[in-house]
Amino acid sequence: MEGGFLPYMDDLEKQELMWSCVESNLFPSIAIDQCPVVFHPEYDISFFGLEKYHPFDAGKWGTVFRLLEEWGLVSPTTVVHPEEATRRDLLIVHTSRYLNSLYSPCVCARIFEMNFLCLMPYFVTNKYLLRKMRLQVGGTVAACRLALERNWAINIGGGFHHASSNAGGGFCVYADITLAVRMLLTLNLVKRVLIVDVDAHQGNGYERDFIGDARVFILDMFNPKIYPKDSKAEEAISRMVHIDADMPTDRYLESLFDNLDTVLGEFEADLIVYNAGTDSLEGDPLGRLELTPECIMKRDEIVFQLAKDHATPIAMLTSGGYQKNNAQVIAESIKNLHTRGLIQLRAAPPKPAHHHHHHHHQQNQAPSPNQSPNPPTGPATLLAVPKR
Ligand SMILES: [Zn+2]
Repeated sequence: MEGGFLPYMDDLEKQELMWSCVESNLFPSIAIDQCPVVFHPEYDISFFGLEKYHPFDAGKWGTVFRLLEEWGLVSPTTVVHPEEATRRDLLIVHTSRYLNSLYSPCVCARIFEMNFLCLMPYFVTNKYLLRKMRLQVGGTVAACRLALERNWAINIGGGFHHASSNAGGGFCVYADITLAVRMLLTLNLVKRVLIVDVDAHQGNGYERDFIGDARVFILDMFNPKIYPKDSKAEEAISRMVHIDADMPTDRYLESLFDNLDTVLGEFEADLIVYNAGTDSLEGDPLGRLELTPECIMKRDEIVFQLAKDHATPIAMLTSGGYQKNNAQVIAESIKNLHTRGLIQLRAAPPKPAHHHHHHHHQQNQAPSPNQSPNPPTGPATLLAVPKR
């Protein structure tokens, strides 16, 4: 296979794919005073309060951003706002038949496991749900592109690893990972991509899309006893690690380190797509694993450290995990990566005061994070995660 082309494509289809990638607006520009964190205030889902009846923190993404902002680590102007993926962008991955099926609210109802959606007209599901997903898809493409420029990037969203070219499922409607990887391959910006998936679930969506593609190496650590149990998709997994609730934390982290270190030594990747779902957190009704918040933080640290040691760019996606405390754990983990010097977050400098009495007010000003790149941290900071 060459570029992002598929074996069955004729010349016209290849040309169309190439132009769709070249003309896409999903690759962002980033200013010198911005950090490669990708987020849009409209990531969050709200359905007139109906979303509260779903076991799902529909405001997870906004909460992660707000916490990082409160801690003085990012500002609205220092993060990158993604573009919404257009139908043309989505056709790089999806069949038009599948995209057309989403006009039926009942198809969305099944994918999102929210039966009331069946009663909604399309303009409602599109505006309040699908559009937000398309923004997060744009975020994933942006993060993968930015990682090549800045060595790391984080999309505070995305990671819809159950969606494939012709099907959605498990809250995932668009195949953002397949899209980002295929665009970069098509444009020859990368030759080989490593997908590291530590979400509790098997990443069967992009796996189905990459069956038989030697340019994509998939390391998937998941709980085999839960959804989706997709044995067809398993064919695409290059290194499969089964996790269960009895696995002690240190063995989990050891296994992650050993597997990833080996893979990075053997497979020369131009990019790591890190699907960092947090539904492996203790108490998650879907993931059914029992990792502590500290373990999740250590997990992300190991992956970023190994990426750095092997000089491989990494793009992180937040993927699954929708308990009320997931956002806090994700934000703490991103903060930890910053504290350890594995990523460099950036907030806007405080606005210069416009009056003549600076000295009276200076003591009230929060210190700029740029003045102290290594804020003090310790067990107190690391453990400041609410227990369920
Ligand atoms: Zn999951």
